[in-house]
Amino acid sequence: MIYLDNNATTAMDPRVATLLAEQWAGGPANASSQHQFGRRARGRLEASLDRIGRCLGSDLTRVDAARLIVTSGGTEANNLAINGLASSAEGAAKSAILVSAIEHPSVLAAAAVLQQQGRLVLQIDVNADGVVSLDHLQHLLAETKRLGQPTGLVSIMSANNETGVIQPISAAAEVCRHHGALLHVDATQSIGKTPVNLQQWNAAAVTFTPHKYHGPAGVGFLWLAPGIAVQPMFSGGEQQLDTRPGTEPVPLVVAAAEATAIAVEEQAAVATKLTRLRDHLESELQRRHPALIVHGHSAPRIGSTTCVSLPGRNRQTMLMALDLVGVACSSGSACSSGSSPPSHVLIAMGAEKSAIDSALRFGVSKFSTDEEIVRAIELISRKMRPSGGFAHVEN
Ligand code: PLP
Repeated sequence: MIYLDNNATTAMDPRVATLLAEQWAGGPANASSQHQFGRRARGRLEASLDRIGRCLGSDLTRVDAARLIVTSGGTEANNLAINGLASSAEGAAKSAILVSAIEHPSVLAAAAVLQQQGRLVLQIDVNADGVVSLDHLQHLLAETKRLGQPTGLVSIMSANNETGVIQPISAAAEVCRHHGALLHVDATQSIGKTPVNLQQWNAAAVTFTPHKYHGPAGVGFLWLAPGIAVQPMFSGGEQQLDTRPGTEPVPLVVAAAEATAIAVEEQAAVATKLTRLRDHLESELQRRHPALIVHGHSAPRIGSTTCVSLPGRNRQTMLMALDLVGVACSSGSACSSGSSPPSHVLIAMGAEKSAIDSALRFGVSKFSTDEEIVRAIELISRKMRPSGGFAHVEN
């Protein structure tokens, strides 16, 4: 089986897996307990959080420093950011929320719930390459002010999970700062693929989760800039200064720190490898299928990801046919498998229906090999031919 669905999740690095197994076997670890077990767990938890912060350019040890909130993953961190920042923003009840049209469903759906509750929620357009329009952001910030509901919160991801297109975060942060709006960045797809400095983005909050970079699933983080507070979503415990009550999963956080350190240390070399493999896959498929569309190809992209369409083919049929011959990919929509609605990202980019209906996403990782890519090209290419065994060809 050739695994090319690394945007959905990645295989755990053996070094992280070993450490995690040791941690699980290391006895009880409730960081809130007052006895020695608890105090040791607290020490490991705090050291690991500090390590993650340090790796990502944010010193958490200073007084009034930034904070890292431990969550169950990217989805929860995004929900906490959207709900929590939207309710703590200045003039919260009346302030508008702007989300880019290509955000992960966990951002879009959280914003939609607030919209149903009466908040003004607007989407920021992207161009045909999937890059968020700063002009449209400026326009919406001015427009919401004019409507008497100035924007309190803006959410823009650093790299898109379907196309890999990198977004102009620092420039967006500058625009938001100018208009007094908080910026949340979903950086779930960036760590390990591009250099990430949490401090330098000048955002109020940043989401990430280590299962996207060879760490464990079931844990994620919301980084909060100094002085930024979020309204908690849960009640019933005092952990994490009430921000996210519930027992912290100490082993997962220790493993997450190891995964983050490895991802950051190897980032430059890994990015070079990913880009080489991805470009080979992409260019060879294009050479064999000149009608192939590569979404976002003119924009800067993370090296791991390609989203391609061959109009006339059906993405679901192709995905299943590839699975049968041993290539795991995704059909260009949400990272969740099982259901596969048409991609809201490609729709926002103005892609033709035939391109949306045939979009497949391939994501390589540091564990992908040249041999796998050569074999994958052969198999994908065969399945892309009209005679490649597709029973179902959509108009
Ligand atoms: N944000 C982005 C950009 C993603 O790609 C994902 C992937 O699923 C998530 C958020 C959600 O993360 P999780 O699966 O850890 O909840």
